[in-house]
Amino acid sequence: TGTSNEVVTYTIGTDATFPPFEYEQDGKYVGIDIDLINAIGELEGFKVDLKPMNFKGIIPAISANQLDAAIAGISITEERKQVVNLSDTYFEAGLSLVVHSDNDSITKPEDLKGKVIAIKKGTAGSKKAEELAKEYGITLNYFDSSPAMFQEVVNKNADATIEDYPVISYKLAVDSNANLKIVGERLTGDQYGIAVSKDNEELLQKINDGIKKLKESGKYDEIINKYIGTSA
Ligand code: GLN
Repeated sequence: TGTSNEVVTYTIGTDATFPPFEYEQDGKYVGIDIDLINAIGELEGFKVDLKPMNFKGIIPAISANQLDAAIAGISITEERKQVVNLSDTYFEAGLSLVVHSDNDSITKPEDLKGKVIAIKKGTAGSKKAEELAKEYGITLNYFDSSPAMFQEVVNKNADATIEDYPVISYKLAVDSNANLKIVGERLTGDQYGIAVSKDNEELLQKINDGIKKLKESGKYDEIINKYIGTSA
């Protein structure tokens, strides 16, 4: 609605605590995803109304059109493509197995037999844990946020967790008292995309166009470097 020169505002969901992609700092949301979506909005002429929430609610909220889109380190999967559109890739990620820094008995997925894994609801990590649970017999305890699931491993209520590689490696880099470590090879590789309502093809196009322009101009690298440096 409104006049043609009025800037449209889109409601964009994001995870609440997922550094370096999105997190609160001094009462403001910051991170790679936040900077990217704001930069895309500037280039493509829309405003962002950010809605931080538990990850598990994000895809359902887009398919119910309560959100126009979401940027939340969302892995591109065939299953999600059934219910939302996913933009072109903007980040290479993948899953890592994480244990307490004291734990020397778990070095590979087979070692999880009979163990307890803490995972975040609705994530690619939880899907992977469910697959492993079928194979090895594992108890799965579900949490709403990455910090809650990490805390379970730190407290030794859980033996392991599965987290996106860039998120756990960032945590280990910034927090020398994390009491966590990554074990083994990456469990899977995957790629992040921005999820958009299937009813808004125009927004999907704007987002893909914005991603392309940010990569071409060097602004994309600038944003990544601001949070994780060139080694990422
Ligand atoms: N990349 C994972 C997924 O899409 C986790 C995302 C998240 O926890 N914010 O399921």
